Amino acid sequence: MLGHQPRKRFGQNFLVDPHYIARIVDAIAPAPGDNLVEIGPGLAALTAPLIARAGRLTAVEIDRDLAARLAADFPPERLTLHVADALAFDFPTLGERLRIVGNLPYNISSPLLFHLAQHASAIADVHVMLQKEVVARMAAAPATPDYGRLTVMLQATFRVTRLFVVPPGAFRPSPSVDSAVVRLVPLAAARPAIADARLFARTVAAAFGQRRKTLRNALAEICGADAIEAAGIDPGCRGETLAVADFVRLANRLALTTPGPAADAAPSPAPSSAAKSRRGPE
Ligand code: SAM
Repeated sequence: MLGHQPRKRFGQNFLVDPHYIARIVDAIAPAPGDNLVEIGPGLAALTAPLIARAGRLTAVEIDRDLAARLAADFPPERLTLHVADALAFDFPTLGERLRIVGNLPYNISSPLLFHLAQHASAIADVHVMLQKEVVARMAAAPATPDYGRLTVMLQATFRVTRLFVVPPGAFRPSPSVDSAVVRLVPLAAARPAIADARLFARTVAAAFGQRRKTLRNALAEICGADAIEAAGIDPGCRGETLAVADFVRLANRLALTTPGPAADAAPSPAPSSAAKSRRGPE
């Protein structure tokens, strides 16, 4: 890899196939003036063609060695480089209408998506490559096996569109799993109004905590069956049958009777069962 030893801990599988690189860049359709932000530019497989089309780009790279190479290869007026952990990066400091792109390290993909969701108001769109199975869960419809916590939490913020699959052979080193490119566009005005984000996250987590349970049982620690009924939802159904809008209605109904933000709510809504490793199925 041009003298760079790929680092497993940073999920380094570099894109090398020109066909897929071109397809991803075409899907992003960068234009001069776009506020492009790349997470994990690595060896610049996407960075270079993105800069060629947009003129300039901001990147967040955690690997100091790669950052030093990038700084040597691109002048600062073309590439603004932040040597930082994207999980802790304050994206709104980069301005508005951010167009976020990345061939993401799969081991941090879910927490990173939730981190981005918290900054959705600063984002125009997101194009990322992830493990194919994770993309299937992000874009899933209710009452399908892939529909779950990740789906509901992301679709409450973004319109999610699965674009295309990228095979392992497009990377060096090759991962053992297929990848897929996905587009997320913030719902903006169409976004459902969530009264209490923590209660919403807690309700969704509980509903999918044990998928086989009815809502009556799965939500027993949060509310009674009467509260579920009051939201117009059958307490005898399972969480996986509820649409995102149903979850919002239910959580908003619970917010009317639950005093203050749920004190024991999970600090991060990131599902623990989401993407674990680029190199192996979940
Ligand atoms: N974009 C390049 C490509 O497509 O070939 C590299 C993709 S590689 C899968 C993931 C990249 O993200 C690596 O450059 C890695 O060092 C970087 N990375 C890993 N964890 C990161 C983090 N927490 N914050 C920022 N960059 C990270």
